[in-house]
Amino acid sequence: MRVYADNNATTKVDEAVVEAMKPYFSEMYGNPNSLHKFGSETHKGVATAIDQIYSGIGATDDDDVVFTSCATESNNWVIKSVWLDQIKNGEKNHIITSEVEHPATLSACKYLEREFDVKVTYLPVNSEGTIEAHTLKDFVTEKTALVSIMLANNETGIIFPIKEMVEIAHQKGALFHTDGVQAIGKIPVDVQDLGVDFFSMSAHKFHGPKGIGALYIKSGVSLSPLFHGGSQMGGLRSGTLNVPYMVGMGKAMELAVKSFPKMNVEVRRLRDKIEKALLELPDTFVVGKENRTPNTILISIRGVEGEGMLWDLDKKFGIAAATGSACASEDLEANPVLEAIGADEDLAHTAIRISLSRYTTEEEADYLISSFKDAVIRLRGISSSYATVQAQNEAYSHK
Ligand code: PLP
Repeated sequence: MRVYADNNATTKVDEAVVEAMKPYFSEMYGNPNSLHKFGSETHKGVATAIDQIYSGIGATDDDDVVFTSCATESNNWVIKSVWLDQIKNGEKNHIITSEVEHPATLSACKYLEREFDVKVTYLPVNSEGTIEAHTLKDFVTEKTALVSIMLANNETGIIFPIKEMVEIAHQKGALFHTDGVQAIGKIPVDVQDLGVDFFSMSAHKFHGPKGIGALYIKSGVSLSPLFHGGSQMGGLRSGTLNVPYMVGMGKAMELAVKSFPKMNVEVRRLRDKIEKALLELPDTFVVGKENRTPNTILISIRGVEGEGMLWDLDKKFGIAAATGSACASEDLEANPVLEAIGADEDLAHTAIRISLSRYTTEEEADYLISSFKDAVIRLRGISSSYATVQAQNEAYSHK
């Protein structure tokens, strides 16, 4: 059996998404900006995709939603253009983000800090792994150009209090960007209710194709383009429109919205079942049990090094999980969220992320539970004395 439990890294493309994309590769392949029929016959697909994205996030007709190549591009665009628009000319000098953002945000902020002396504040998380909205009050000033805090954390699934933080940022005249990548398809999103100025998305996190994302820009908010060229997307992002991928992202958004009830009930039930079973193992610890996306578990198992555990799960059991963000997985470092919480070295190095999807089955959940327990017993055995192993096996056999 093979089980994919790494859906926060990427998801499988829904068959209906593939079907919706197919005609736009070699039947309706014209450039939407061309005046001939080959061009104009793509317009319906483009318009439908745009409608699906707007309605999926609750944007109004006056807002902009611009397709990008991925959320890394969306995040970089906001951060670097806010520098161009407000910091470079000396109007403002400060950006606030958090310690637990994805590298797509953190690295862009660190780049500005290093190369252009931008002041960057990294908001801390508390022992539950969440950001307390009021902490923003201590740092935001009239010199703050941008606050960039994610809506749901990729490691823990914890949902941050964005609406409250937007109000605090706006009172000081700062723009607010949220990386919404891990929220789409997992919790309902309403950009108007959140009040954000910018919202980043990525199709491959909600059963759409890789290589396409989007950025929501609130009506009345301006952002300099990073790509100059043929003035596509109202001049905000030049480059020939990637019609099949736009169509795929639109369809994936429509399906993600339709799947909320399943996510919230079925996927949550399977997640809770897995979590409860794994917490029966001694010395295990889950971060942020309240207010999380319904598909995610970040669990630390004392004495079981995360990389070894992943190896066992993958090679022996055919189970894909993660020790952290796939984009940072070459570093073999401690889990960044556990580090930010101030967890000890052992917990930070023994974290495993399990992330389910609407395709995860009961059978897969049961297999994951038994394989995970087997792997923990084996790996704890390798790192302890024979007597301890015996005692552990004894203990588990009574569960
Ligand atoms: N932001 C978050 C929270 C993510 O989890 C990821 C991907 O792991 C990204 C941004 C980057 O997305 P993309 O792969 O579309 O660049």
